[in-house]
Amino acid sequence: MLTGLSLLSIGWLLGMAPAANGAAVAPPPSPAAPATALVERVDLDLLVYPTGVGASTTRQMMTVGSEMLARTGVRIAWTDCLAEPSACGPRDGSAGRAAVVRFTTGASWQREGCGWAVRRPGSIGLGVVTLDMGCVSEFAMSLRNRSDRLVVEAPRLMGALLAHEVGHILGLHHGTNGVMRCTVGVTEWRALATGRLHFSDADRRQIAAALREPATVRASTR
Ligand SMILES: [Zn+2]
Repeated sequence: MLTGLSLLSIGWLLGMAPAANGAAVAPPPSPAAPATALVERVDLDLLVYPTGVGASTTRQMMTVGSEMLARTGVRIAWTDCLAEPSACGPRDGSAGRAAVVRFTTGASWQREGCGWAVRRPGSIGLGVVTLDMGCVSEFAMSLRNRSDRLVVEAPRLMGALLAHEVGHILGLHHGTNGVMRCTVGVTEWRALATGRLHFSDADRRQIAAALREPATVRASTR
């Protein structure tokens, strides 16, 4: 059972505004505006430890996952903490939300999910995401054989898994469709293969509300 999406890495800011449905071509940037104007706000820092994952795969996964989250209005900054340990931490402009992303291998999707998210109790946007590369590869092979042999490359699947797990870090629960569905079936697989796997409208509303909250919500004293 594939129970999540999540991923990320390297000092790189994805300064994307929420996508407007039906938006035409984005206007060209103002020549007077500095590049950093696009990323003056970061909603979530992803501190990535891509052990056993190549730089290209990591970059592709992070791009896919970050773009899925950007459509909900979440601005991600990710850092490859193995390549840039000194840069691995919340940065200026961050809202104070930061999640560690790490990789493992060895779990079977038939027994467990390929991803896990552990959110710090009482927080929004603080926690640890774990992704299993071996599990994802095994799962991808299985779905490919059941989905008209539609190919979804592992980095894209990992990116979707990253987005799912980050959704949990931001407080989302499983839904009946889209990125936050608990399991990935043929429908989600085909949507992912064609770039149409998104967060639901309800997820987007919940994330927008979550981002208005401080990173740490103090526990009740009662
Ligand atoms: Zn999940």
